[in-house]
Order: sequence, then structure tokens, then C-alpha cells
Amino acid sequence: MDRVELLAPAGSLESLKWAILYGADAVYVGGPSFGLRANALNFSLEELEEGIQFAHQKNKKVYVTVNIVMHEKETKELETYLKALEQVKADAIIVSDPAIIAFAKKHTSLELHVSTQQSTLNYLGASFLKKIGASRIVLAREATKEDISDIMKHVPIEIETFIHGAMCASFSGRCVLSNYFTERDSNRGGCSQICRWDFDLLEDGEKIEGKKPFTFCTKDLSMIEKIPEMIELGISSFKIEGRMRSIYYIATVVSAYRKVIDAYYEKRLTKELIQQEKKVLDRVANRESTVQFFDGYYGKDCQYYNGRFELSNQDFLGIVLEYDEKKNLAKIEQRNYFKVGDLVEFFGPNDFVNILKIEHIYDEEGKPLEIVNHPRQIVWIETDITLHKNDFMRKKEIDKIMNS
Ligand code: SF4
Repeated sequence: MDRVELLAPAGSLESLKWAILYGADAVYVGGPSFGLRANALNFSLEELEEGIQFAHQKNKKVYVTVNIVMHEKETKELETYLKALEQVKADAIIVSDPAIIAFAKKHTSLELHVSTQQSTLNYLGASFLKKIGASRIVLAREATKEDISDIMKHVPIEIETFIHGAMCASFSGRCVLSNYFTERDSNRGGCSQICRWDFDLLEDGEKIEGKKPFTFCTKDLSMIEKIPEMIELGISSFKIEGRMRSIYYIATVVSAYRKVIDAYYEKRLTKELIQQEKKVLDRVANRESTVQFFDGYYGKDCQYYNGRFELSNQDFLGIVLEYDEKKNLAKIEQRNYFKVGDLVEFFGPNDFVNILKIEHIYDEEGKPLEIVNHPRQIVWIETDITLHKNDFMRKKEIDKIMNS
């Protein structure tokens, strides 16, 4: 049985490497042109080449977004750009505009994945996209399991679906609120997420006093509990949203889904494991999440209306840079405040979680420290737990709850 692909976002070369290290089978990135996410750290061609070589050495893939809605003047640059992507050996491009699909099909041998921006929800659309050259379709986030199943029954093509991350209150960017309010174009990666703003409620042009502000922000998507059902549908690729997310977020989310997917194929998946990984995902979330459209009903519980609760996450404490086994010392790069006496957890790509109460911290000169409160400060922590380069250090869950 072909295993489903776990596809992670990467906004930089650094996050591409972390995503692969923590278990992604493939990564999608924005190149220097023609992609959405104008504000994400898009890759230069040199970085793309380096990232693709890194991925290929590990037998992983890199897909490059070429999914803007293209204006006439941009068509002139397209051929040169697509040839450059061919040259750096991109495994596929993610496209939306039929003009780019037709052009890439005619002038390149690049594999074509049709972006979620096309909002494909039915098999007639999927069949059309296959005919014009798509090898994979990223379905709209609004697809129900019946939609997915019908499309797969009628059209033999790879199907990719979102499993985790933010939603759009419109159909994936088919919205001009951002253009009107802030002159930033959602379809060119500039969405300023107006749907998350708070709006006053008016009646006959007058603000209704005493009413909470209104928002039409959606809750996030989280499909961790539906992974077995989704694998059984025969979906080819599970996509995680969030090219602007931190390396800690990417590593945590990828590693949680990796564990559940692997356990499914190895016939050791339990409800307890799913709940355990759900808790891990909740720790990096700053909004509530639901399965959104998958079960076929999109109810009021999938949406915020009157204000919402957003957490800023301080869970991520540091990264292990090296471990000295002889001296029992771990070299840590700080990412959030911690101190002597804190209970912390270390986790890495090798499926372990180690818990430690911090007893001794030293600076780079070996002087004892009580607290570590400078961004990216380098310190040594005493521990006889064998740690590894690239392990993450986070707050211990109980400690986090007691201190919140
Ligand atoms: S403003 Fe909201 S609904 Fe509109 S494109 Fe942005 S995220 Fe989607």
C-alpha cells in the first residue's frame, strides 16, 4: 500500500530543513516570483536549489507555489521563471491560473499540482483539470468527505487535502475584503485577514450599544482524529497550512501527524495516542480548531462570531545545539524565558519526550545563572539525559498549567 504523503509548509530554508528532519515527506515553498504569501519569507533561486538538494538527498520532495492570479504584464516573465524552476529540479509546481497550467504544460516538463485556490469540489472540475495536464489536485478546504470520495471514485488522479492550520472565511482567498480595507490583495499573498477584525454592529447606521463586536473569523482546522478515515479514503497527500509559522510550530505539528500516520500503517494506532498528539497540537495552537467541512455540516461551532480567545504561545524555550556526554551538559539556544527550578520537556525527531527539572544553568564562560531571559542566549544546562542536536526544549505541560 502506498503511504500517504505528509506535506509541510516552509517559509525559509531553515524551516524546510526542520520540517524534513521532523518527518515531512515533502515540503512546499514560495519561490521568488508568482507565488502567494507576499509576506512570507520566500526563497531565492539559490535557496530553492539548496533546499531541493537537501530534500532529494533525504529522498523527500519540494513543491514550489506558482499560484498567483496573473495580470497580463506578468506573463512575459513566466517562461524564464518556469525554466529556472525546472533547472533547480523542483518536484512540482503548485498552480492555479489556467494560463500558467497551459503554459507550463506546453513549455516545460514540470509536474503540475492544482492549487486549493482553484476551489475544486467536484469530479467534473477534477476531470477537466486532469485533462489539461494536472497530476494532482489540492482540493478546496471546504470539501466534505463525500466530495473527496466522489472525486476519487470518478477521476484517477492524486488528491491532496489540508489537515491542519488556518481557514479562510471565503473560499481560499476568493475575497476582496483585504483589497478594499487595506489595499492588500489576497490573491497576491497580501491578505490582511480582515475577517478576523472586530466590527461594530449597526442599525440604521447607528452603532448598537451594549453589543459585543462582531467577527466572522473561522476557527482553525485540525484533522488529527480523522487521520485513519482520511487514509482509508485513499487521499495521496496531507497538507499542513502555514508558511509563516515558526520552526517550533512546524516541527511540533509535523511530528504529531507523523506519529499518528506511522502508527496507523504499523497497526498500533490507539485512541490514546491520537488524544496524546491532539494535546501536543493544542499546545502550539493559538485558536480553537474543528474538523470544519469534513463531516458535511459546517455549523456555528466552526466559527467565531463575538470576539475570540487567542493565546500567544510561550511554550518553546530553546533548541539543543549539542550535548557533551562526558560533562553531562547540553548547550541550548534560548527562545523564551526559563530559569532554575523549571520543569521542562525535550522532544526530538526520534519519538521521545524527556522531562527535566532544571538544577544548574551556566553561561558560555561557565558562570552559574538563575534565569535565561535574553533572546537566543547560549547557555549550558546540566542533565544526565542524553540529548541530541536539534531537540526542542518546551515547558512541561503540568508546569505550564500551574503557572498560567
Ligand atoms: S480576509 Fe479573511 S476571508 Fe478574506 S481572504 Fe483573507 S482570510 Fe480569507
